[in-house]
Amino acid sequence: MKSKRDSNARFRLVLTLGLAVVLPALTLIFVNFQHVKSIQRDKNVEALIHRDFQYLLTISAKKMASKAYAMTEKAREAFPSVDDSDDEKRRKLDQIVANNPAFAHVFLYDAKKGVILQRQRDLMTEKEAEESVKGYSTWFNLEGAYYCGVLGRKSKPVMWMASESERSGSLAYATTAIFSFPERHNDRPVLGGVSFDSKHLKETFFPELLKELTSPDFIKDPEQLYGQGFHELMPGEVIEHPDQKLSMMVYPADALKAEPDRPLAVSAGWGNGKPEVSYKLDDPFRGLALGIKFQGTTAEAISRRWVWQSFLILGVLSVLMIGGLVLTYRSVNKQVALARLKSDFVSNVSHELRTPLALIRLYAETLELGRITTQEKKHEYYSIIRKESERLSALINNILDFSRIEAGGKEYDFRETDIAELVRNTLDSYRYQIEQQGFVFEEQIDPGIPSVKVDREAIARALVNLVNNALKYSDNEKFLGVRLYREQSMLKLEVSDRGIGIDRNEQSRIFEKFYRTCDPLVHNTKGSGLGLSLVRHITRAHGGDVEVESTPGRGSKFTLSLPLANPST
Ligand code: ADP
Repeated sequence: MKSKRDSNARFRLVLTLGLAVVLPALTLIFVNFQHVKSIQRDKNVEALIHRDFQYLLTISAKKMASKAYAMTEKAREAFPSVDDSDDEKRRKLDQIVANNPAFAHVFLYDAKKGVILQRQRDLMTEKEAEESVKGYSTWFNLEGAYYCGVLGRKSKPVMWMASESERSGSLAYATTAIFSFPERHNDRPVLGGVSFDSKHLKETFFPELLKELTSPDFIKDPEQLYGQGFHELMPGEVIEHPDQKLSMMVYPADALKAEPDRPLAVSAGWGNGKPEVSYKLDDPFRGLALGIKFQGTTAEAISRRWVWQSFLILGVLSVLMIGGLVLTYRSVNKQVALARLKSDFVSNVSHELRTPLALIRLYAETLELGRITTQEKKHEYYSIIRKESERLSALINNILDFSRIEAGGKEYDFRETDIAELVRNTLDSYRYQIEQQGFVFEEQIDPGIPSVKVDREAIARALVNLVNNALKYSDNEKFLGVRLYREQSMLKLEVSDRGIGIDRNEQSRIFEKFYRTCDPLVHNTKGSGLGLSLVRHITRAHGGDVEVESTPGRGSKFTLSLPLANPST
């Protein structure tokens, strides 16, 4: 009946835990697991990073172009007018070159007057300048009018001519802006131009730009730095991560020369390796490409780490959940068992109180009616009433002690005691009862037991509990042995019987409060399950302990060990 009730409670618990906690949690973990797996399979993290890279490169290319356009525009504004004298023209062009170290040369083409070119002296030789003048003259005499027409129709009247050449084994890349002056080309073609120097581009212009483009500020908020219009081009979170520094490179986009190990310029921390994502630049840097990668890692490695971390977190979560579940299950199980023990306790105790009370009442009533005439009989009834009331007090004392212990308020009164005498006296008041129940009683108290400091009442109660148990839990062979002896610094009080014994698995549990073994005889015997837990509390309070040796069907032996030296508490 009880076990059915318990298993019902347990079943309900498992069902609740299962439906309310385990199922949703497992589903959540499973769905997440699948999600991470699909991210791993579809390379989503890499794709995200690459998309961010693409955004960043698009913005960077715009930034590079706008810088070159701005420099060109500034130069164009400072250009001389066709009506200026040649000297004035030269002076103004010289000024532009002097103000801008990025320009190898600047020139003004006028169909009427030819080409005037001013060079950066340390970048271009006289001879080179002369050759350029010749080249521009021939070219614009042929195509000048056409270019003026084309440029006049463009919103930005600038066109770009890029040139690549090998110079002492490395790539020399230069680009030239050619522009028209709308107010001056009514009657004849007039063109201006600035040529960006290859050395300056390679050594200053690109490196400085790359440094700026890979700086954390730019990566965090390119829009704020470079104006509106980049709303859709915001880089994502991955590349904003402070631990993951970026590096960029400018290199020839030409398929044949697109060897990232021959870059035109790289930002710090490129290391070796190819760009993760590259972007072909348009005017003004047509022919070049911009590449990007992480410093010291790859998108694939980051993705692998992310997936691995996600799996790890999911794994740890699962373990925690299972652990928590087991703990909850066990603790609730314990509570269920304790609740059962408590309810058993109540019914046991009421039963134990009722029997002696009924006997006392019955015998007292009989005496009251005056039907008992012989003195002997009367004496017998009185003694039954006394014994039953003693049993009642013993039980109530146990319960009171137990509740004091539970409330933490049990106090012991340690006094110097002749323990041999205490044991003898306690047993004497039981001797009659023991022998009447047909027990063979063996009492063996070693001589010369020194006196010890104990709580007399508590030790007597422990002994009475053990003796009562021996009497209660013996069926066929009725034997009770009590021994008091000294073993080194310990005093041993042994109570043995040849009764039903206790199963090995239950031997440690019988000292728990309310616990009673499953033996059928135990269930037919009155008891509260408090006795042994009191015995253990009492001996431990004296600095000792209690042990049991028992074989089912052969009997049990309980041994109290008390230290001879004064206990501190
Ligand atoms: P109870 O009031 O049930 O006797 P105890 O705490 O004294 O409570 O004992 C706990 C349980 O230990 C008993 O219910 C019984 O199953 C077992 N037990 C105690 N003493 C003995 C013994 N001498 N022989 C067999 N079983 C015992």
